[in-house]
Amino acid sequence: MNKRFMRVPIFILTVTILICVLSSCSEQPDEPYHEMLNTVPVSQKDNVIEYGNYVFYESGKGIMKYDRSTGEIRSACVDPECKGNCLLESPLNYFSQIVDGKLYFATMTAYTHEYTYAYLDIQTGIVTVLRICEEIESVMGIPPLVENGYCYYSCKKLKENGNKQDPQDYLPYICRISADGSGSEEVLCELLGESDILLFVYNGNAITHYDAKLHLVNLSTGERQIIFDQYKEGYTFVNGDLAFLNGKIYLLLKTNASVTSEYTKKSYKYSYLVCVDPETRTHKRVLETPVVSFHITNNKIYYAPFELRHLNIPEDYENNLSQITIMLASPDLHCCDLDGKNDQILYSNPTLNYMESFTVVQDKLYGWLINHDEQTNTENKKMYFGEIDFKTKEIVIK
Ligand SMILES: [Zn+2]
Repeated sequence: MNKRFMRVPIFILTVTILICVLSSCSEQPDEPYHEMLNTVPVSQKDNVIEYGNYVFYESGKGIMKYDRSTGEIRSACVDPECKGNCLLESPLNYFSQIVDGKLYFATMTAYTHEYTYAYLDIQTGIVTVLRICEEIESVMGIPPLVENGYCYYSCKKLKENGNKQDPQDYLPYICRISADGSGSEEVLCELLGESDILLFVYNGNAITHYDAKLHLVNLSTGERQIIFDQYKEGYTFVNGDLAFLNGKIYLLLKTNASVTSEYTKKSYKYSYLVCVDPETRTHKRVLETPVVSFHITNNKIYYAPFELRHLNIPEDYENNLSQITIMLASPDLHCCDLDGKNDQILYSNPTLNYMESFTVVQDKLYGWLINHDEQTNTENKKMYFGEIDFKTKEIVIK
């Protein structure tokens, strides 16, 4: 593989000026921040992405737009006629990229269970549909991926002489279509194995996860190489979070190592943040300490170390084990360079849990926070989309 290409940032945003979204936007663009957006990490789980003054996130009721300048949250849908039943406001959305001012997303429609790949033009608010997959054709949970003017996605196709009504007769593929919505023909790039998951696309290659291994698939020739075998390397499974940056894959991998709660006697296995280089097929632990969640910008890793903690321990806890709040994240949110160096603690709060998705822009974290403050049991844990200012230590909970 050509070394030169590997160093080129993969998902280039050609945005050079901040696009003012809606007439209410009168603030000057944050220049350094936009410089920073040249390379966009892609993550399957994140569903939290910044763009200009906005942070887009999946709320469970649709894609929301958090205005960083005003703190206001509203639906990403700006259609005044909309009755709340559009693609942006369905309960299951998956997205991982904003390219050229367009938020590419996949969404499942209630009742019909159609799985639609589309994009939102952030400036105009117009949604363009790229592909609608019938329920029987759809591969759920995978966001669309954009590279070099193409949108890549997963979709099933009826095999030759197959029975249209029989889901077994549909085979999963990596497909592509032009990313601008110009209605080009769908191209079948590669047949996938059963539960072979498309993770990333770069330089015309796909990275998939199949049979506990990461694969590199050349989408022109179909050549497939194993680039990482998690069992062989002592890991058990991929633990949700993963990202792609500068030709490298970052993922959380679980081991069999665990700690046991002194109260509940339950054991908790933990994960490490591992970086895999598809080119050299090498991998390394970025951090020696176990990690529960992370977010990557183009030069920093933000993460919460794994730490088993207990809050709200009642005096007669032996009879009230369910009242104990178990937390698996350290109270400290850390930041380090991409190689794990220059580690520092940015923020500390013993009642906050940073286990969910977040992003960091200019000394502020935006994301899902679970606050166990004034909390007596785990049943009604409080989860919010909020903001933490690392400088002032102020926390805004929405
Ligand atoms: Zn709408």
